[in-house]
Amino acid sequence: MTLSTPATTLAYFGVDALIDDDTRDLQAAVRGFVDRRIRPEIATWYEQGRLPVRDLARELGELGVLGMHLSGYGCAGTSAVAYGLACFELEAGDSGLRSLVSVQGSLAMYAIWRFGSEEQKQQWLPRMAAGEAIGCFGLTEPDFGSDPAGMRTRARRDGDDWVLDGTKMWITNGSVADVAVVWARTDGGVRGFLVPAGTPGFTAPEITRKLSLRASVTSELVLDDVRLPADAMLPEAAGLSGPLTCLNEARFGIVFGALGAAHDCLETTIAYARSRQIFDKPLAAYQATQLKLADMGLELGKGMLLALQIGALKDAGTLDHRQISLGKLNSVREAIAIARECRAILGAAGITLDYPVIRHSANLESVLTYEGTSEVHQLIIGQVLTGHAAFK
Ligand SMILES: Cc1cc2nc3c(=O)[nH]c(=O)nc-3n(C[C@H](O)[C@H](O)[C@H](O)COP(=O)(O)OP(=O)(O)OC[C@H]3O[C@@H](n4cnc5c(N)ncnc54)[C@H](O)[C@@H]3O)c2cc1C
Repeated sequence: MTLSTPATTLAYFGVDALIDDDTRDLQAAVRGFVDRRIRPEIATWYEQGRLPVRDLARELGELGVLGMHLSGYGCAGTSAVAYGLACFELEAGDSGLRSLVSVQGSLAMYAIWRFGSEEQKQQWLPRMAAGEAIGCFGLTEPDFGSDPAGMRTRARRDGDDWVLDGTKMWITNGSVADVAVVWARTDGGVRGFLVPAGTPGFTAPEITRKLSLRASVTSELVLDDVRLPADAMLPEAAGLSGPLTCLNEARFGIVFGALGAAHDCLETTIAYARSRQIFDKPLAAYQATQLKLADMGLELGKGMLLALQIGALKDAGTLDHRQISLGKLNSVREAIAIARECRAILGAAGITLDYPVIRHSANLESVLTYEGTSEVHQLIIGQVLTGHAAFK
C-alpha cells in the first residue's frame, strides 16, 4: 500500500489484510450490487418515501445475503464477518436497505431458524432466503420500546388454538411481510408466534411522515382477536430471552452497517473537499478541514477494527452479547457524528439529496434508536464495568 493516497480511508488502516480472499470477493459482490442497483435510485426512493421491497428482496435473495449467516434451508452459511461486511456495503447504500436485510435474516429468519419447529423451518426459510417471502419481527409496542418486558400483547389459549390481541409499533417491513414473528405474553411467559399475512383480525397499517429511514417500510401491527392454530407458536423460545437473542443477531449487523454509512459520508466528503475551491485553493488543503477529516478517518478505522474483533469472536463462538453493545454503541454514535460533520463540510450542497450525506445522517437517527438505544447499550456496558444494573 502507498500511504500517499490510499484508495479509501479503511485501506489506510490495512483492514483488507484482516479479511480472507473469499470474504473480500463476497463483499465486492455486494458493493457491486449496491453500485448498480441502489445508488442510481436511492435519492428518488428516499424523496418519495418508498422502497420496492418485493423486487429488491428477490434480487437480494439471488445475491445470497438473506439469512446468509444461517446454515441449511437455502441459506448461504457464511461466516459472521462476511455477514457483517455485507451489512457494511448495504448500509453504505442506505440504512433502509440494510434494515430490510437485517430484519429478514437476523430477526425473522433467525427466530424461525433458532426457535422454530422443523415444519416451520421447511415452510418459511427456503422462500425467505430466496426473497420470495418477506418476514417482519414485532416486539416493540406503543408504550414499550426499551423495556419490552412490559409488553401488553397477549396470547390466550382457546381449545387448541391461540388468540392474539394487541398492537406492535415501528415494525420494519410490517405492511409488506408475508409472515410476522409476533412476541406476546401468555400465562407461561413471553412466546413467539408466526402470523401469516391475511389472517383475519391482523392488519399492518404503514407509518408515514417519517423523516428518517424514508426508504424503508415501517408499520404498526394490529392484532384483534387473531386466531392461530397451536402449531403457530415457536416451540423453542420461552421467555424474553427468545426475542432478545434475535436482537443480538441484528445488532451485530449494525456494528458493521453503521460504519458503511459513515464510510460513504467520509469518502464523499474527501472527494468533495479535494475538488471544491474556496479562496483560490481546495477546501481539502485547509488545516481546519484536514483536522476534521483526520479525526473522522481515525474513528472510522478504530470502529472497523472493533467490528472485526467482535466478528472474530462471533466466528470463534466466544462472543458474549454484552460485547456487541460495545460495537453497536460505538459504531452508531461515531457514524452519526461523522455524518453530521461531513454534512457541514459540504456546505449548502450537503443539505440536498444530490449527495448521500444528509440522507445517511437522517437515517442514522433511527439506527441510534432501534436495536437498543445508545443509552441502553451504555447501561449494559456500565453494568459489565461496575456490576450494578442501573436500568431501573
Ligand atoms: C425506523 C424504525 C424501525 C424499527 N423497526 C423495528 C422492528 O422491526 N421491530 C421492533 O420490534 N421494533 C422496531 N423499532 C422500534 C425500536 O426498537 C424502538 O424504537 C426502540 O427500542 C426504543 O423504544 P422507544 O422508541 O419506545 O423509546 P423509549 O424506550 O421510550 O426511549 C425513549 C428514550 O429513553 C431512553 N431510555 C430508555 N430507558 C432508559 C433508562 N433506563 N435510562 C435512561 N434512559 C433511558 C432511551 O435511550 C431513549 O432516549 C424500530 C424503530 C424505528 C425508529
